[in-house]
Amino acid sequence: MPKGIYKRKSSEERFWPKVRIPFYDDGCWVWIGTKVRNGYGEVWIGKKRTKAHRFSYSLYHPEFNLDSPLCILHSCDVRLCVNPSHLFVGDRNDNNKDKVLKGRQSRGIKHRRVTGSKKRSEKTSKFIGVCWHKQDKKWRASIQIEGKIKHLGSFFYEEEAAKAYQNALNNLYVEGVKS
Ligand SMILES: [Zn+2]
Repeated sequence: MPKGIYKRKSSEERFWPKVRIPFYDDGCWVWIGTKVRNGYGEVWIGKKRTKAHRFSYSLYHPEFNLDSPLCILHSCDVRLCVNPSHLFVGDRNDNNKDKVLKGRQSRGIKHRRVTGSKKRSEKTSKFIGVCWHKQDKKWRASIQIEGKIKHLGSFFYEEEAAKAYQNALNNLYVEGVKS
């Protein structure tokens, strides 16, 4: 007799089938389940709703209370990402500080490129989904969807390519949510 019929699936059992984990190390684990308007994934834990990345963090950090007022922040800026190694705990203040810091950082990087620091390696990117294309002399963004590589375009700035990848991730599964 199949057990599943008689036993309700746990929150965790329902969670993982809705996460896509990439084949490469340290990529974003993208939530493909219900998405709320602000771009975060949403899960029901018992009778309560919580953000998908928050729930994922709690699975790896049992000491973290889901009802805690602390925020779970993304180091990767991909709101649908539930990779615990991309998540860290902070308060609302940290959230704002983090935004400011990231804003400053990307401006800094842009400035460096404009002023032409060619010394650093141009073959690899610190961003996931971005690689340097020699012939074009441009950064290329691509994403893997169900085993197929989809090119997202070539960009002069590495950050633009990274943004294209992030947008693709954030938009990828919007349609899938309906089913
Ligand atoms: Zn991530």
